Amino acid sequence: MNALEIKNLNVTIGETPILRDFSLTIPRGEVHALMGPNGTGKSTLAKVLAGHEDYTVQSGEILLDGESILGKEADEISHAGLFLAFQYPLEIPGVSIANFIRAALQARLPEGEEINAVQYYKNLYAKMDALQMDRKFTARSLNEGFSGGEKKRCEILQMSMLDPKYAVMDETDSGLDIDALRVVAEGVNLMRGPERGFLVITHYQRLLNYIVPDKVHIMYDGHIVQTGGKELAIELEEKGYEWVSRELATA
Ligand code: ADP
Ligand code: MG
Repeated sequence: MNALEIKNLNVTIGETPILRDFSLTIPRGEVHALMGPNGTGKSTLAKVLAGHEDYTVQSGEILLDGESILGKEADEISHAGLFLAFQYPLEIPGVSIANFIRAALQARLPEGEEINAVQYYKNLYAKMDALQMDRKFTARSLNEGFSGGEKKRCEILQMSMLDPKYAVMDETDSGLDIDALRVVAEGVNLMRGPERGFLVITHYQRLLNYIVPDKVHIMYDGHIVQTGGKELAIELEEKGYEWVSRELATA
């Protein structure tokens, strides 16, 4: 099946269960939004998908187009076609954006094969033009001294160059200003298409004013308690997260 499938995932940190029987399927071509109150396990899900080592998967499955990615290293998962955009991107002083992305692409090639530099820059500049990024940007150190919007733009550029089958964006909770929100939304909208699936994690409905999702899932206490269309996000905004804990959290 051409989908990112998460089946009955149970995840703990130390002794504490965080994801509880979490299931979600994102077919290619769809954009799904995952919303939920703070502390409900949204970022944990993103990190587990990326192969983060702090978490213990007790049971369940994660399949990418039918192949298990559970237990794989982060770079293998990326290679398999999953891109994770994090809430707080790394800063890497001394490494330019152009070289960072080039290294990531080089790492995917078979031994002995070199990236064609001319082709690489042609592709990079075409992607930057599409994202309306200044070319001078590529020479700067990764995320060092970047504004929120610039970090997001840089992340979207990485995503666009890596051309993943599935992208998971954890934008939750914090200080994304309107500029950064727009950058994320434009990037997602540009890359949306029948060959790619997106999971957009967000605490606030406002991001979904710019990215219209095919489905909206509400997460509470480690699993999804309600699924609907884009109107569910608006209902959630109107009723507030109180509604989730009062009426939806039955399990
Ligand atoms: P969300 O992104 O939905 O706000 P998180 O996935 O960040 O939720 O957190 C889910 C729960 O797991 C919270 O109770 C949080 O305190 C706990 N948690 C997350 N990461 C860690 C960690 N590294 N060590 C201990 N507890 C953690
Ligand atoms: Mg979070």
